[in-house]
Amino acid sequence: MSIALPFIVFVLLAGIAAYHRLRLPVWAALTAAALVACALLGANVVAVVLVAVITALIAVPLLVPAIRLPYITKPLLGFYTKILPPLSDTERVALEAGTVGFEGELFSGRPDWKVLLDQPAPTLTAEEQAFLDGPCEELCAMTNDWDITHVRADLPPEMWEFIKKNRFFGMIVPKEYGGLGFSALANHKVIQKLASISSVVSSTVGVPNSLGPAELIMHYGTEEQKDHYLPRLADGREVPCFALTGPWAGSDATSIPDFGIVCMGEWNGANVVGVKLTFDKRYITLAPVATLIGMAFRMYDPDGILGDTRDIGISLALLPRDTDGVNVGRRHFPLNSPFQNGPLDGREVFIPLSQLIGGEAQAGKGWQMLVEVLSIGRSITLPSTASGGGKMGAIATGAYARIRKQFGLSIGRFEGVQEALARIAGNAYTISALSESTAAAVARGENPAVPSTIAKYHCTEMGRQVAQDAMDIHGGKGIILGPKNYLGRSWQASPIAITVEGANIMTRSLMIFGQGAILCHPWVLKEMKAAMMPEGPEQVREFDRNLFGHIGFAISNAVRSLWFGVTGASVGTAPGDAYTRRYYRKLNRYSAALALCADTSMLLLGGKLKFKESLSGRLGDVLSQLYIASALLKRYEDQSRPEADQPLLAWSILNAVHKIELALSDALRNFPVRPVGWLLWALIFPIGRRATPPGDRLSRRAASLLMVPNEARDRLAEGIYLTPTEHNPAGRINSFLAAVVLAEPVERKFLKAMKNSDIEALTFPEQLDEGVREGWITADERGQLQALREMTIEAISVDDFDTEELRSAGYKAEPEFELLDAREHAIS
Ligand SMILES: Cc1cc2nc3c(=O)[nH]c(=O)nc-3n(C[C@H](O)[C@H](O)[C@H](O)COP(=O)(O)OP(=O)(O)OC[C@H]3O[C@@H](n4cnc5c(N)ncnc54)[C@H](O)[C@@H]3O)c2cc1C
Repeated sequence: MSIALPFIVFVLLAGIAAYHRLRLPVWAALTAAALVACALLGANVVAVVLVAVITALIAVPLLVPAIRLPYITKPLLGFYTKILPPLSDTERVALEAGTVGFEGELFSGRPDWKVLLDQPAPTLTAEEQAFLDGPCEELCAMTNDWDITHVRADLPPEMWEFIKKNRFFGMIVPKEYGGLGFSALANHKVIQKLASISSVVSSTVGVPNSLGPAELIMHYGTEEQKDHYLPRLADGREVPCFALTGPWAGSDATSIPDFGIVCMGEWNGANVVGVKLTFDKRYITLAPVATLIGMAFRMYDPDGILGDTRDIGISLALLPRDTDGVNVGRRHFPLNSPFQNGPLDGREVFIPLSQLIGGEAQAGKGWQMLVEVLSIGRSITLPSTASGGGKMGAIATGAYARIRKQFGLSIGRFEGVQEALARIAGNAYTISALSESTAAAVARGENPAVPSTIAKYHCTEMGRQVAQDAMDIHGGKGIILGPKNYLGRSWQASPIAITVEGANIMTRSLMIFGQGAILCHPWVLKEMKAAMMPEGPEQVREFDRNLFGHIGFAISNAVRSLWFGVTGASVGTAPGDAYTRRYYRKLNRYSAALALCADTSMLLLGGKLKFKESLSGRLGDVLSQLYIASALLKRYEDQSRPEADQPLLAWSILNAVHKIELALSDALRNFPVRPVGWLLWALIFPIGRRATPPGDRLSRRAASLLMVPNEARDRLAEGIYLTPTEHNPAGRINSFLAAVVLAEPVERKFLKAMKNSDIEALTFPEQLDEGVREGWITADERGQLQALREMTIEAISVDDFDTEELRSAGYKAEPEFELLDAREHAIS
């Protein structure tokens, strides 16, 4: 023991120092003091001296700048500069555009939860709430989704009018320009509510308030552009669209072949300097009805009219629809969700330089402008749409699963259905927390580059899962389209949200971790910047500061991962209450594991990491689920820890934690350098993988919450359109739920009595009459059962049509063909 003691003390102190991130001098001093104590306690002197020498060998070169800077830091800087991945302009712009919020803490390996929990709970102003309760509620009431998606393939004129008149297109436009000047949170709530009744309406309103002419003019426009266009965009005199994508440039948007040549031309009768544009765009939302087109193109100045630069770069312009040579009007048909979307093209369309967004000064800065404001829109429109659809899917499916009976039971009582219902409940709860927290980040003034990609990817994926589960639970009722179907269109449309604003496969495998690893990492970006500084002592000092910060950080994360892995993250300080503390601890654990894996991957793979999309995607999943779980916990705190929500919270967090472990283990099992993968596995899962998905009992509790009126269900339903109007079949079904639940005991009593009797009445009214006569039920209960029957019929009924109603309006039956067809039938 006397020999082992100094070594044990050394290892313990090193572990404690690494865990708590003590500074090197503190660790060295503590170790020295402990060794003296060991000697005084009679430990073997040779062992004490040996450990002291080891400590000195580590500490002295690192603590003495005269040794460290020239002999350690400088060679490492040389090596680092060689392996530093070259940053493309696109990547650099993307990295410089975003801000870092709480997600930075998740990358730190030791999140400071105070940063999250101190953020104020998101709230709306009285004016914003009044808009939701007034014009927004009214617009929902006007919505007949079947009429929009099937009969007219457009919004009716009165809805267009209402939207413009009430400035739905100008939610983000400041009041001084005649807009509503709403916060990002209000924007989120409006889109969420509209999406709960119709995704066509929500995307029609969402797009002008997302990345497009208004947002770009607000940030970069000249004063003239602001004064002219913003008031017109706010009140709908101008309908905007934004055209970036074309047949040759989809995900790789910077490769657009559309070009503009600087030249002289005529504009409003004067000969001015401008650009002649040639473009071919597709998939452009609102293009068929747009009056103002935001256009991305590459600008060239072959004659040197503006200066020496020939390839000026991607630039953005405002094209009035009636500009000579612009060709718009035809429509795409995106998965039976006929919001206005279509191609547009033009050849040699002349516009003056004053039509460039921001004027000549912003020529060539188009990509930077897009990326700088992209995450603002990406944080709102698609996540909020998924939230509205997800919430409505959960509420309607819960009610339907209670009302619909098979084998004498509500289908929601069968375990198989409960599994899907629990997934719906958990996913809807999670989407809501994630979309709201990301909108709140924008409302706080952040430009959340990484959270916006997380929210876009995961909200739309979970939205698709909710739609799919809801369809399965509804059976034929979900399949048969018509005015009574409230699910089919959401299910059809779910891949649209997956595809737009960066298709999800790329968002996951390239962007979330790719941006997060550099932007959110506490040291990497600083190191890169130091390595790119001009050579000299200042560069070495700056690199030194960050490099050793980084090394300490990496050692700490390895120790923390191991400790958390061994203890199952069941000890340690964490915020929250008795119920949530364990969740915070789990997140502390995986935050350390993520930081460790991220560092190791970057160190080993350098610039090649961005081509290792599977690894990047899996580490992105870990970061995403950490962010999602944090949003869930924050929401729970903001809502004053409602006990009734605990099954939803628990289901969602356990689901996130399970996904984190799956992603981590897949990343390590497939780690490009196998022995390193094994080592990381030993540090992160020293006693194996333990997290399991939510259990059956918890799933049953979460599912049950959807099938009976209660406060957790009401909270989940907050912000969607549930007024049981004629064209809101989901709202109507939901409105039946309380009465259905109340009538169930009477129904059971009645059915039992029926079973034990020998009455011969076959129709339901006759059976009820018989029930009253026999005294099984009272007259009041008869009324209750009659009402139950009517509500059930409405809930389960589906539509049917004449062939003519289903035919496309343009279709003309060909008489000859019909004749031939008839003759063939006659022969057979
Ligand atoms: C209904 C609809 C509305 C739209 N509205 C607009 C609009 O208003 N304005 C506008 O400019 N654009 C709009 N778009 C375009 C949209 O942003 C693009 O569809 C999207 O960027 C993907 O481009 P793509 O469809 O050509 O797919 P592709 O680029 O061909 O991609 C196909 C698949 O390959 C994947 N992929 C591509 N590269 C990588 C990679 N490096 N790593 C991993 N996976 C990769 C993608 O994720 C995708 O799954 C809209 C699209 C649709 C369908």
